[in-house]
Amino acid sequence: ERKKLSKLKKTPAVTRDGTSISLLANIELPDDCPVALESGAMGVGLFRTEFLFMGRGGHESRLPSEDEQFESYRKTVVAMKGRPVTIRTLDIGADKQLDDAREISLNPALGLRAIRYCLAEPQLFLTQLRAILRASAYGPIKLLIPMLAHAFEIDQTLALINQAKEQLRAENIKFDPDIAVGAMIEVPAAALALQMFVKRLDFLSIGTNDLIQYTLAIDRVDHEVAHLYNPLHPAVLYLLGHSISTAAKAGVPVSVCGEMAGDIRFTRLLLGMGLREFSMHPAQLLSVKQEILGSDLGKILPHTKKILRAVEPAIITEAVEQLRIL
Ligand code: PEP
Ligand code: MG
Repeated sequence: ERKKLSKLKKTPAVTRDGTSISLLANIELPDDCPVALESGAMGVGLFRTEFLFMGRGGHESRLPSEDEQFESYRKTVVAMKGRPVTIRTLDIGADKQLDDAREISLNPALGLRAIRYCLAEPQLFLTQLRAILRASAYGPIKLLIPMLAHAFEIDQTLALINQAKEQLRAENIKFDPDIAVGAMIEVPAAALALQMFVKRLDFLSIGTNDLIQYTLAIDRVDHEVAHLYNPLHPAVLYLLGHSISTAAKAGVPVSVCGEMAGDIRFTRLLLGMGLREFSMHPAQLLSVKQEILGSDLGKILPHTKKILRAVEPAIITEAVEQLRIL
């Protein structure tokens, strides 16, 4: 089976009725690039940069310097040989803590996490933005911002990106002035108020891991409630379908980079919702491609419409399983 899959490495991901799908890799460190390329990924859809900041032990300084970060981002985009690399800014807090996190809030998932942390520590954020911008002179890079929920957070973020660009210009340092900036859609409020995002940003990426956690109010790392973590809950499906179709109508590219994108049980459902870009762990990429190669959008679409109207979990589960044997 693995051998059969590996033959698909160079096969373009196209549905039976001719729609091209973009399959990208999630990575955590520059060293993951060879594995991403080996999987046939067309680029990096999510570089979780917090791993550069975590597990740094005692002797190194707490945070990676601008130069150290720049080297990691440059190395990544060079390793991907011209393929696009989406770099997500620091998503620290909640399930990913710095080694000497000051104080863990009572509800870390609802606390000073990701962009909230970065806007509260603008120097740390500017350092990362400068490092990413500098790397953008070496290959196609996009900037992705996690956990945005408020318009003012988007506006403050864009202002800080401009500030970083001004600094680099003043120092005569090269960068891509037109670098695309996108938002993770992972807070239900963001999905529901998507117009706020499509007006301000160049692209969107849906983080289903957090979107499910926050929609269903279940801690994604708490085993006691793991059985309630249901990607097929009608509320989750509503938010996914709404986000994908709203972005498509606005002409704003949208991807899914949470676990759902790499789970073949959901590939056809997401295709039916209109998703054309999937980012996942490289180990899942060829299985997802195989699922796409056997898919017929013309058949999937009417079924997906029915699934999105359904409210009974048993009916939804059954209908999603049926998609796989269409
Ligand atoms: C997500 O929330 O789905 C996501 C891709 O981000 P992370 O898993 O890093 O929170
Ligand atoms: Mg997330």
